[in-house]
Amino acid sequence: MNIKFYNTLTRQKENFNPIKSGEVSIYTCGPTVYDRSHIGNFRTFLFEDILKRILQLVGYKVKHVMNITDVDDKTIKKANDESKTLAEITSKYTAEFMEDLAMLKILPADEFPVATNHIQEMIVMISTLIKNGNAYTTDNGSVFFSIESYKDYGKLAQLDLKGLKQTERVSSDEYTKDHPQDFALWKAWKEEDGDVSWDSPWGKGRPGWHMECSVMSTQYLGNHFDIHCGGVDNIFPHHENEIAQSCAALNTQFVNIWMHSEHLIMADEKMSKSLGNIKTIPELLADGHSNESLRFALISSHYRSKLAFSNNKLEDAKKSVHRINELYHKLQKIADAGNTMPDEFDQFIEILVDDLNTPKALGVLFNYVRKLNRKIDNDKLSKKEASIGLNFLNKADIILSILKKQDDIPENIVQLVTQRESARKEKNWKLSDDLREELKKKGWIVEDLPDGTKCYPL
Ligand code: AMP
Ligand code: ZN
Repeated sequence: MNIKFYNTLTRQKENFNPIKSGEVSIYTCGPTVYDRSHIGNFRTFLFEDILKRILQLVGYKVKHVMNITDVDDKTIKKANDESKTLAEITSKYTAEFMEDLAMLKILPADEFPVATNHIQEMIVMISTLIKNGNAYTTDNGSVFFSIESYKDYGKLAQLDLKGLKQTERVSSDEYTKDHPQDFALWKAWKEEDGDVSWDSPWGKGRPGWHMECSVMSTQYLGNHFDIHCGGVDNIFPHHENEIAQSCAALNTQFVNIWMHSEHLIMADEKMSKSLGNIKTIPELLADGHSNESLRFALISSHYRSKLAFSNNKLEDAKKSVHRINELYHKLQKIADAGNTMPDEFDQFIEILVDDLNTPKALGVLFNYVRKLNRKIDNDKLSKKEASIGLNFLNKADIILSILKKQDDIPENIVQLVTQRESARKEKNWKLSDDLREELKKKGWIVEDLPDGTKCYPL
C-alpha cells in the first residue's frame, strides 16, 4: 500500500517507509498541564489519533509516546497564582486530560512520560551539548543553546538567518519566529520558581520546555524514529529547537517525518487559553452534544486546513453521526453473516493513507450511506448487501469511532430504557411515552423490536 504523508521539513508529501519493517514509532507533544485542555488542543490530539488508527488498520504495530509537560513557565505561574504546589496543579490537570481523552475515544499512548521524572537525563543531554560546543553557561547558572553552532538551525521553520546578529538570548519557553535567538536549555532558579528546582552541575534550576521533548522522545523511541507530531504552533520554536538539541547532542537524524495539524479557530482567531476564547469537552457535553458528534466535528476537516469551529459545525456533525448510526441499526436488522467488503472500503482506505484526507474519505462513506438508504427505502436491500454494508461501517468505525454500539450506551440511558420496558410490560403507555420523550431529549431513540428494545443516538 502506498502511504504518503506531508512532511513539514521538506514541505511535500512523501512516501512513508518506516525505519523498522512493520513497526511505526510516533512521538506526539502532549499537553502542558496548567489548565483544562480545550477543543483546539483536542483537534491536534484527534489528528494524531486518526494517524495512529490508520497505521494500525493497515497492519503496522504502532509505538506511540505522548509526553506530559508538568514543569514549564506556565505550570509554575499557575501554581503561584493559586498558591498551590506544582504537583497539585499538574496532577489535577493530568487527570482531567485523561478523562477528556477517554471521552473523545482517543486511543491512549503506550507511554505518557512526565517531564519531572526525566530531569537527570535532561542534565546529561545539556552536559553533552556544552561538551560539544553547542551550548554555554551564563554567570547566573543558566545554560543556553548557541543557534550559530548548529548549521541546520532554522530549516524546519524555514528561517532566513543570514545577517542575523546573535546578540540576544531568550529565557522564556515561547517566542516568535521573528526573533530567533539562543534559547534556554537550563534555567537558573529565580524567586518565582519557589520550591520548584533540581540540583545540576550549573546550580539549582529547571529545564527549558524544548529540552523535555528532546529527551523524552529519544528515551522512549530511540535516537531515530519515524514520526513526530504537534500543532503548527509547535513548529517554531519548540520543534526547531528540539531538532537542534537532539541532532547536536546525539549525532542522529532524529525524526523522519514531521507532521503538524492546523489550528482550530473561533471567529477568525486561534483558540487558545491566552486569548480566553476556549471551549472544553465537559462544557460542550453539558450543552447536550455527544462525544461522537464532537469527535466527528473535529476530524471531518483535513488536518492541514484551519477548522472554523461553530455551533453549526456541531449541528452538522450531530446529523452525520445520526445518519451513520441509523443506517447501522437498520442494517443490523436485515443483514445475514458474511465478511465481504464493498469496493468503497478500498477507496476509503486509499484516500486516508494519502495524507489522511478525512473529508474526502467521509465523502465516499456518505455516498455509500445514501446508496444503501435508497435501497432500504425501496425495499431492495438484500441480506447479503446489508451484511456488506455492516462490514464497511464496522471497519470504517475502527478509524472514526462514531458508532454507538449497544454496549457503549451510558448507564443513565440504559436505566431509562429499562424503566420504559417495565412500563410497557405493565401496559403503562403514558409512562412509556414520557420516557421515550425524555430519552429523545437526551439524544437517544428507542425502537421496540421482537427481540427487545434497542436504543441508538438521535
Ligand atoms: P499545549 O497544552 O498548549 O502544550 O498544547 C497541546 C497541543 O495542542 C500542541 O500540539 C499544540 O500545538 C496544540 N494546539 C494548541 N492550540 C491549538 C488550536 N487552537 N488548534 C489546534 N491545535 C492546537
Ligand atoms: Zn513537545
